[in-house]
Amino acid sequence: MHTLNDELIEKDLKYIWHPCSQMKDYEELKPIIVNRGEGVNLYSIDNKKYLDVVSSWWCNLLGHCNKRISNALKQQVDTLEHVIFANFSHPKAIELCESLSKVLPFGLEKFCFTDNGSSAIEAAMKMSFQYHYQTGNPQKTRFMALSDAYHGETIGALSVGGVDLYSEIYKPVLLDIIRIKGPDCYRCPYGLNCQNCEAQCIENAKESFKKWGDECCAIVIEPLVQAAAGMKIYSPKYLIELRKLCDEYNVHLIADEIATGYGRTGKMFACDYAGISPDIMCLSKGLTGGYMPMALAVTTKKIFDAFYAPYSEGKAFMHSHTYSGNPLACAAACEVLKILKDENIIEKAQQKAVYFNNLIKEKFSSHKNVGDIRSIGLINAIELVYDKKTKQPFESNLRIGYQIYKEALKEGVILRPLGDVIYFNPPLIIEKNDMDYAVNTAYNCMKKIVD
Ligand SMILES: *Cc1c(COP(=O)(O)O)cnc(C)c1O
Repeated sequence: MHTLNDELIEKDLKYIWHPCSQMKDYEELKPIIVNRGEGVNLYSIDNKKYLDVVSSWWCNLLGHCNKRISNALKQQVDTLEHVIFANFSHPKAIELCESLSKVLPFGLEKFCFTDNGSSAIEAAMKMSFQYHYQTGNPQKTRFMALSDAYHGETIGALSVGGVDLYSEIYKPVLLDIIRIKGPDCYRCPYGLNCQNCEAQCIENAKESFKKWGDECCAIVIEPLVQAAAGMKIYSPKYLIELRKLCDEYNVHLIADEIATGYGRTGKMFACDYAGISPDIMCLSKGLTGGYMPMALAVTTKKIFDAFYAPYSEGKAFMHSHTYSGNPLACAAACEVLKILKDENIIEKAQQKAVYFNNLIKEKFSSHKNVGDIRSIGLINAIELVYDKKTKQPFESNLRIGYQIYKEALKEGVILRPLGDVIYFNPPLIIEKNDMDYAVNTAYNCMKKIVD
């Protein structure tokens, strides 16, 4: 029988080019047509329930169809859907910036709106270059970034990214970046442990700053968690040292908190662990609770002031996106901040995080192919390796992670591993029974593939 589900799948495959996908894989693994979400769950049109432990690409913060966010959006949509953001403004954008300025690291108080994470990175890079250009350092034209970094998909953002899977093929058209070998705590070349090291690996950054600091505008980093690289977690000490280097060489610190912000790491921002303020911070994903595409590049008055001059001096930041400051997205974002506060979400998530991490350790630690278990906040990652002793990875063409993903889908859990790293990054409102189910399912599916 040809069901509505079959029909939609057929049409999907006829028209749609899905993100980050080899479309040929879809011959075998058909797209799952979802028509409803509630809390941590998604429901497909053929009535299967899926536990969304990846927060729909890390953006869903407070559950699907959260009543409060939905209501805020409903009100906004009947009031004002959008307005040009040059010369015009609206109450929700103003409310959002005022509320955020109270929780952001010290000094971040000027808000530039874009409509996705990658474009916030682009805005930050342009802003940094122009700042230096207009303050007597036109020789600062390059950017630094860490190995294994991920900052998005547009040409500038992809350039600072260092995950070959996404950027290798485009190298001929990318910017020439100064790549610094960043922290690699599981395979630490110093043989240290990131719980008690002194971030010795900062020496690579020191060398690069010495050589190239004078020609660099900024270094772009993901504070504490290199998410797309497989939830690689490093010490806040590294950030503290990096902040010092940036000050010493007049290089901006651009903190990409697109994935780590909004309580994902157990604090509002990952930078809070180090007690540092970046010169520019990029936010997206959790910003609107996963409701609407929006992003911010937030900066200091010092940077802002370098653009503030009579029009004739040509110092304005001529950057714009049509949907800058979209009122629907701002309404959702305002409500997200209120919920975080009213419902004590981050503190509660931190309590649950202890349970979650223990559960994962108990279940996975002793397995012969589990090389590393790392966690911060509700983010938990399990790196599977061929050989636990030598930390040798599986051959990538075996697609171990992908096979586990397919098994877990059958059991109604969305895992979507990064290579052979199985991870959980659930909405902060997840409860224990769902954690139990997710962890047991992940374990059983892993056993099916690697035992
Ligand atoms: C997702 C992500 C981006 C890119 O955001 P998009 O909205 O997908 O363009 C940039 N940096 C980090 C750390 C991310 O996780």
